[in-house]
Amino acid sequence: MIQGTVIKAAGNLYSVRSENGIISDCHIKGNLRVKGIRSTNPVTIGDKVTYILNNKIGTILKIEDRRNYIVRRASNLSKLYHIIASNIDQAILIITITQPETNTDFIDRYLVAAESFRIPAILVFNKIDLCLGEFQKKYDDLLAIYTKIGYLCIATSIKDNLNLDLFEGLLKNKISVINGNSGVGKSSLIKSVCPELNIKIGSISEYHHKGVHTTSYSEMYEINPNSYIIDTPGIRGFGLIDFYKEELYHYFPEIFKISSECKFYNCTHIHEPGCMVIEALRNNIIAASRYFSYMNIFNDKGQKYRY
Ligand code: GDP
Ligand code: ZN
Repeated sequence: MIQGTVIKAAGNLYSVRSENGIISDCHIKGNLRVKGIRSTNPVTIGDKVTYILNNKIGTILKIEDRRNYIVRRASNLSKLYHIIASNIDQAILIITITQPETNTDFIDRYLVAAESFRIPAILVFNKIDLCLGEFQKKYDDLLAIYTKIGYLCIATSIKDNLNLDLFEGLLKNKISVINGNSGVGKSSLIKSVCPELNIKIGSISEYHHKGVHTTSYSEMYEINPNSYIIDTPGIRGFGLIDFYKEELYHYFPEIFKISSECKFYNCTHIHEPGCMVIEALRNNIIAASRYFSYMNIFNDKGQKYRY
């Protein structure tokens, strides 16, 4: 019996990398049972599995419990889920203050999604060379907001060759998902770490509109021995949040922290008397942009909450 990690899933065929680096094609044992949520796919990339080899073809016998996973609904009305990836170490959001501007609503939705999936999130402010004058101030403000909440933030510039080694260090020995709006520099950053990697990173944020790959195909890319990135649009945080509306504040760490002091245990932090979150907002302890994101998501009719 061999232990390994699923690095590619294409239909019912999986590529599994053993601990000593040998990659084998594997099928799943017919009656394999998986604990947990009901999903359309029993095995996903990132899964730690036990398998046997027979004429170089593997059979997966067992899947370890997942540390975390990203899911989306199999279809809009379905109660079934598709598990996009599991055992992810970190979700890295690439942000630019300008060209293009990444707005705080987008950032906060992403962070909420990461929190709800229990994946540590990191913010990378790229194109810092363009942050002069008013843009510098905007960067300083956002940096202060997100650092105070506890998110790791780094500033990078491809143009000035700033902190690219730091970015590379972040990825080392980790499985990361990397996202960000089109044009923020995802491809450039990944190329700086791994020039030979031949994937179109732009696809991370764009191809989900076409919905072709996402159902049955996913892959982890090795950028360094033991460092992987996952090409998935699944954590963008748009319409992908899957929890009860009343739980939303759990995924704003600074709001959650204060919420225990609210007068009512079921406070939504929108209108209740004795709400300490609103009090903290008034005192600038909670950033206005964060609170507005909270309200926006809370009131978003298009948001698909659990039902
Ligand atoms: P992606 O769509 O997120 O993959 O973005 P790309 O990596 O394709 O980058 C979009 C554009 O921004 C390209 O023209 C890059 O050369 C440019 N770019 C990337 N990083 C930086 C940076 O740090 N500073 C500046 N000034 N331009 C950058
Ligand atoms: Zn409250």
